Parts: sequence; C-alpha cells; structure tokens
Amino acid sequence: MTRILIAEDEPGIALGLEDDLKMEGYDVELTDNGLAAARLATESAYDLIILDVMLPGKDGFEVCRQLRRLGLQTPILMLTAKAQESEKVMGLELGADDYVTKPFGTRELRARIKALLRRGTHSPEHETYVFGEIEVDFSRGELRNGGVPVELTPIEFKLIGLFIRSRGRILTREQLLAGAWGEETYASDRVVDNHIVNLRRKIEPDPANPRYLRNLRGLGYRFDG
Ligand code: CA
Repeated sequence: MTRILIAEDEPGIALGLEDDLKMEGYDVELTDNGLAAARLATESAYDLIILDVMLPGKDGFEVCRQLRRLGLQTPILMLTAKAQESEKVMGLELGADDYVTKPFGTRELRARIKALLRRGTHSPEHETYVFGEIEVDFSRGELRNGGVPVELTPIEFKLIGLFIRSRGRILTREQLLAGAWGEETYASDRVVDNHIVNLRRKIEPDPANPRYLRNLRGLGYRFDG
C-alpha cells in the first residue's frame, strides 16, 4: 500500500486532504508539527511526503533540508501559502520535488501526487542508467564501461547511485557521507574525495579532466551524466 505522510497544521486542509487521499486508496498519516514530521519521516518509510511550509515546531523548508541532508530520497511535495516565486524556488533548491500553491484544487493535487509517485517507482535503482560508455545496472549491482564489467567497491556503487539520483544537483560531502557511509560515520571529507578520485578512474574518459563527476569548489560534487 502506498504510504503518504501529510504535515499540515490547518485542520481544514489536513482533514480534507486525508479524507481525499484515503478515498483514493492511500495509507495516510497526519501530523501538524514540523518536528514530528521530521521524526516520522526518518523513523518510518513513506512513498511521499506532503509538507506545508508554515508549520509549528520546524518550518517545512527546514524539515525538507534536514531530510535531504540525511540522504532521504522520498519525494517531497511542498504546500506553499503564497504564490511567491522565491518561496517555490527555495523549496526546490532545498530538495523538494514539486510544490502546490494554496488554495489548491484536489484534482490538481491528486495529479501532482500521482506524477511524483510514478517518478518514485521508476527510480533508477530498478533500472539501468546509461551515460557515455558507462552502463549502471542497479538490479544486478553492476557497472560496465564499454560493455566491460568494472569492479566497484560497495561504497563506490552507493556513490554512483546517489549521483545518478541527484544528477544535475550539487551534493555536499556531508550528503555523500550520510548517503554512502551512513549517518553515524566517522569518515571525513577527505575519504569522500579519495573515493571520488577512484570512481573517476573507473568512469571518466579522462580522469584528470572529469566530464561527469565535477567538483564545485567549496560546495561539493555534481554529476552531469
Ligand atoms: Ca501552515
């Protein structure tokens, strides 16, 4: 069953949404507090999180930022109160996948939810991702370069998966550590850099002038593949 977490503190909107989504056959959990939303989202597995921006405890932007920093890949749909461009942009920059401006029609919201869930189930983890001469086969846990299997360490494989899922977006060393090594790691930024060097040797046509795994000074790495 598809599980959706709704973090919304306006009872009218929250209960309306809950009813509507339950009628659609979703398993819905409700919270009216940002802190509780962040806790629930990390403790339990959801297929989608609907996050209001203005929430008591912790605002929706902060919750979104925190979850992404922890490496959580669950699709996030933000509910913004104002049709303000800056608010939308900020949400998307913090790692939200989409936004809906209040007041919204249930039909529009349902369509956005379906689109996000579709994207979620077609995540590259179940598929093969190809860039240049490289083919990453997530179902078999294999990477091939020009058709030839390349040996990757488990960490390297996790890293390439993170990069592909976040392609075009900057990932900080902190995010890479949390995503590939786990949140409780004692590994340092330096370890990340060393693994990137090794990974480049395996996937870049010219590792000294990387085309796919770019370093953005002071920010982190971005995958352009
Ligand atoms: Ca609110």
